[in-house]
Amino acid sequence: MFKFKLKRAAALMCAGIMFCLAGCGNSTSVQQSSAAEETKADSSENETATTQAAAENSAEPTVVLPSVAGENGVTMLNGGIQLRWFNNAGFEMVLPSGKHIIVDPYLDSANVEPFPVEDIERCDYLLVSHVHVDHVADIRALEDKFGRFPIFVGQSTADVLFQEYDLDLRNMYICDDGFQYKFDDVTITAFTGRHTEAPNPTRRSESVKADSTNTGWWGNFEVMSYLIEASDGTEVLIWAGMTTEDQKYKYEDLRPDIAIMHLSPKSDAAIFADMVAAWNPKLVIPHHYDAIKAGVEQNPDQIDRNLTKEKQEMFITYDENNVAHFDEDAYVKYFNDAIVAACPTAQMLRIDHHKWYRFGFSYAEMAE
Ligand SMILES: [Zn+2]
Ligand SMILES: [Zn+2]
Repeated sequence: MFKFKLKRAAALMCAGIMFCLAGCGNSTSVQQSSAAEETKADSSENETATTQAAAENSAEPTVVLPSVAGENGVTMLNGGIQLRWFNNAGFEMVLPSGKHIIVDPYLDSANVEPFPVEDIERCDYLLVSHVHVDHVADIRALEDKFGRFPIFVGQSTADVLFQEYDLDLRNMYICDDGFQYKFDDVTITAFTGRHTEAPNPTRRSESVKADSTNTGWWGNFEVMSYLIEASDGTEVLIWAGMTTEDQKYKYEDLRPDIAIMHLSPKSDAAIFADMVAAWNPKLVIPHHYDAIKAGVEQNPDQIDRNLTKEKQEMFITYDENNVAHFDEDAYVKYFNDAIVAACPTAQMLRIDHHKWYRFGFSYAEMAE
């Protein structure tokens, strides 16, 4: 009941406010912040004002919502979330409660935009989309640093992940389609996805041993997406895996505020845009396309396996030394164009590696 009321109020107050990048002015609801901690300070004044306004407008019991004043004077009405992209599928999210969710940690050991585990300040929940190395490589380093925290992972591949990285079994939160975990500050719901599309058939290669500890092979078996519902009503879908037609129906009732979506080399732009249109998020944040660029340049022998001939012609160029280069700007634009055509109310937002952004509803005083 609380959530419904909050969402309705926020929608009314925010009519006409567009999401946009930092620096647009006071009425924006997305902004880049230099550090997560900064925004937790100096909130008491606005908290009081918000609480009083809520009390005046409603006979229902007052819910004290956290609100934070950021730089540029923007105040987040409902607290909102903060987000940074490490690289690949790796993200860190700060909930209104101040707790941090880490997704797909590929940090010190990443081959694209590595990020030091040392610089991560908290890990209260950890979500694993699947057990491929570019999604879990630094999971043990986080456990060593932060000790006990729930690790969410699909049930078919939990065993291989916990064995391969020698993780503490008490941290394991098994997931399957529709499994939901509620905590005081967040509800996390898991959905199965797919990791099996490819231009060419995917089979167990000769080099892969029939070994249950091989995360390369098992990572293809199970992919989990997650819906994160923060206590202030903000909903973020972390969508992982391949574009398949069935998925537009799977998530169509969720209508997340933000869909963080995997741009695979194998993704089909038309199906991708169809899914966005069905889910109708306010924002689509693409990821994993940086890894395509790294893959093309570092493992050119994998190009034929991962990209269709048509996509190779569109997005790969060869320099005078016959070295392949992937045009990630053009690739993102290709998907953005498809979204604009299929779902003009959703906006694709490309964020920079390693920078903090804030998302939430904001308000500003109007001139007389
Ligand atoms: Zn994978
Ligand atoms: Zn991956």
